[in-house]
Amino acid sequence: MKKTIEVPQEELQANLDVAARLHAELQGRGLRYYIESYGCQMNDHDAEKLSGMLQACGYLPASSKEEADLLIFNTCCVREHAEKRVFGNIGALKKRKDAEPGLIIGVCGCMMQQREVAARLYKRFPFVDLVFGTHELHHFPQLLSRALEGERVISVRESDGEIAEGLPVVRNGSFSTFVTIMYGCDNFCTYCIVPYVRGRERSRAPENILAEVRRVAEQGFREVTLLGQNVNSYAYADADVDFPELLRRTNAVDGVERIRFMTSHPKDLSPRLIEAMATLPKVCNHIHLPVQSGSNRILAAMNRRYTREKYLDLVQQIRGAVKDVEITTDIIVGFPGETEEDFLDTLSLVREAGFAAAYTFMYSPRPGTRAAAMENQIAEEVKKQRLLRLNAASTEQLQKGNSKYIGQCGTVLVEGCDQRAGEVTAFGKLPNFKMVYFPGGAELIGTMREVRITGTMNNSLIGDLIK
Ligand code: SF4
Repeated sequence: MKKTIEVPQEELQANLDVAARLHAELQGRGLRYYIESYGCQMNDHDAEKLSGMLQACGYLPASSKEEADLLIFNTCCVREHAEKRVFGNIGALKKRKDAEPGLIIGVCGCMMQQREVAARLYKRFPFVDLVFGTHELHHFPQLLSRALEGERVISVRESDGEIAEGLPVVRNGSFSTFVTIMYGCDNFCTYCIVPYVRGRERSRAPENILAEVRRVAEQGFREVTLLGQNVNSYAYADADVDFPELLRRTNAVDGVERIRFMTSHPKDLSPRLIEAMATLPKVCNHIHLPVQSGSNRILAAMNRRYTREKYLDLVQQIRGAVKDVEITTDIIVGFPGETEEDFLDTLSLVREAGFAAAYTFMYSPRPGTRAAAMENQIAEEVKKQRLLRLNAASTEQLQKGNSKYIGQCGTVLVEGCDQRAGEVTAFGKLPNFKMVYFPGGAELIGTMREVRITGTMNNSLIGDLIK
C-alpha cells in the first residue's frame, strides 16, 4: 500500500511566513534567491518546488548568483565528477561569504542524500549554512528558518516511503512542463545510485496527479511530461490504476495537447502501454527506452532483467503498433568486464534497433553501487575508443533514419529561436521527438506550427513553415 503525506497547507503557510519574516528582519536588504540545479528533470522539478516555497514566503528570483542573498545548490550524484564540480563551486564562495556574512548558502539534492558526502561538505565548508537531503524537501521552510536564525543546519534522513503533496511550484517555461507521477526506484541496476538516494518506488495518488495536470492545463501549458524513474511500473493500489490507465485519464484532461513520459524500463513495458500509445491521440509517438547494452552477459551483470532479444522484440512490437514512432535510448560502454565481443553486440543492436537518438556514456563507478566493487574495470582509453565507435555507429543510423522525413509535413510545438548562419531560426519538436529548425522568430514560441521537411542536419531536421 502506498503511503501519501499531505502537507497540511496551514502548517506549510505558517512555516513559509516565519521564513519570510526572519529573512526580512535579518537581512533587510532585499529578498532574492538563486538556485543552481544540476542533473536530471527530477532535480529540475525539485528546484521548481524550492522556487515555489521561496516565492510563497516573499522571495524574488535573482537573475544571477551575484545578485542573490540566498544561494541554493541543488546537486546531483549521477554524473561523473559531479562532486568535484559542486565542491569547487561552493569553495569559490568563501571570499564572498567573508565579505557578505548575511549571504545564506544552502546545498541540497541527491548528492546530499549520501550521508558521508553531506557530512564531508558540511565539515569542509564551515560557511555553508544549510545542507539537506532529497527526503527533506517539504521541510525546507523550517530548515531555512533555522539557518536564518543563525544555526548551521544539516538534515539528512532516510525516506519512510512518504510522498509530500501540496507544495507550491513555480514552473520554468510556459508551454511545456513536468508532472511527477512517482518517486524512487526498486530496480537496483548495479551501476546506479538512484535507489540509494531517491528511496524505494512510491506512486502518487492518481487524483493528485490529475488535479496537477488540470492545473497546469488551466495555466496554459500545452505539453505535459509524466515523470518517474520507471513510469512503466507506476501502480496505485488503492485505486487499481496502472500507467496505461493513468495515460488514459490524462488524455481526457481538457487543454493538454501533448502527453510525453519518461523514463521507461524495458522489463516493465506492457502490451497495454503499447496499445495506449497507439490509440490515445494526445500521447506522443515517442518512447525513451534505455537499453544500456546489447550484450546479454553485460545486461545480466547490470541487473537489467531483460535480454537483447526481448528488447529487440519490444522495439518491433512498438514499431508495429505505433504510427511513425521514434525510439531513443541510453547506452553505457565500458561496464566492468565488457569484452570487445560484448561491445560488438551493442553496436549490432544499435544498427538493428534504429534509434532516433542514443545518449551514450562511458561507465564510471559510483561509490556504494555493486558495479563499483566489481573486478575487471575497463581501462579509460578502451572506454573512450568504444564511445567514439558507438557514437559513429549511432550517428550513421540516425542520419539514415532522418532521410525518410524529407517531403513529409508535421506539427511542431515551437520551443525557441536563435540565430543560425545570420538568419533567425525557430525550433520545435514533432510529436515523435524529432527536432525541426525552420525560418521563424520569437513570436512563434509556444505555438503549434505546421512544417514541411526539406533537409536534415546532424541530429535534426530542417523545414519550411507552412502555417
Ligand atoms: S531503473 Fe536502474 S538505472 Fe533507472 S533509476 Fe532505477 S536503478 Fe537507476
